[in-house]
Amino acid sequence: MSAEVKESVRQLTEQLKAEHNITPGLAVVIVGDDPASRVYVNNKKKACEAVGFKSEEYALPAETTQEELLALVETLNNKEDINGILVQLPLPKHLDDKAVIAAIRSDKDVDAFHAVNVGKIMLGEYDFLPCTPAGVMEMLHSYQIPVEGRECVVIGRSNIVGKPMGMLLLHENGTVTICHSRTKNLAEVCRRADILVAAVGIPKFVTADMVKDGAVVIDVGMDRDENGKLCGDVDFENVKDKCSFITPVPGGVGPMTIATLMKNTLKACKLQHGISE
Ligand code: NAP
Repeated sequence: MSAEVKESVRQLTEQLKAEHNITPGLAVVIVGDDPASRVYVNNKKKACEAVGFKSEEYALPAETTQEELLALVETLNNKEDINGILVQLPLPKHLDDKAVIAAIRSDKDVDAFHAVNVGKIMLGEYDFLPCTPAGVMEMLHSYQIPVEGRECVVIGRSNIVGKPMGMLLLHENGTVTICHSRTKNLAEVCRRADILVAAVGIPKFVTADMVKDGAVVIDVGMDRDENGKLCGDVDFENVKDKCSFITPVPGGVGPMTIATLMKNTLKACKLQHGISE
């Protein structure tokens, strides 16, 4: 699916170049040397190449100051050939990620983390959707999995995954429950779910006893198991036979997130140039 989305972005990018002589540009900023962040940034750069975008990487040392980072964001805000700006999170502890996100021009905020874009999502009138929840919705649509009227349980309430995920399911008329670390009787709540989305960050947290027979299970987690191997928040081996659909890790939500980032960057470019879809 992610390959299909990227192929469609590639074709539209080619058309944009041919008809308007415009190449979308994405700037990715990474601060410090977190190995997971490095992998994500490399994957994003590769995806840019595959769809024909210009990509710029700004790799800053871990001791970068808030002022230096904000100055870079301001430069990118004013750079005409850059349509999308992405600051890879998490930032080193001494940096204020909220202030950095707030400094990104909202029409270049292809992660949709800026307060303006978050507000638009609440109202259901958005330009960009946050990449991970939007990728999940695209999977549900593609497999024609209905959301309307169904019990949707999201585990996790982060601003980048859990909350917007709940909102997108609500927009499509799901009956949404958002769980978190203070939720009581979590397993019982999860067993109600027709659609269960795990965004917890704990390896194999969702066990078979938490899943209703025939449920759709979406695993957002990108965790490491006891052997250091990439795994999800769901105990895949034991859950897979219980559910009707399940996304694997690696290879499920992650690639869809990057494909959505490409879609958002193309859209940002078109909006900035006043080109309608
Ligand atoms: P996060 O900010 O750490 O949020 C984790 C959420 O899980 C919090 O809301 C927390 O509750 C909740 N939680 C923690 N322990 C719990 C428990 N025992 N029971 C119920 N809820 C619990 O994480 P995130 O940024 O949303 O990321 C979640 C996972 O998704 C991570 O593995 C991350 O690597 C992955 N991720 C993947 C992609 C992708 O492209 N596939 C993108 C983003 C993130 P409280 O709010 O009460 O603390």
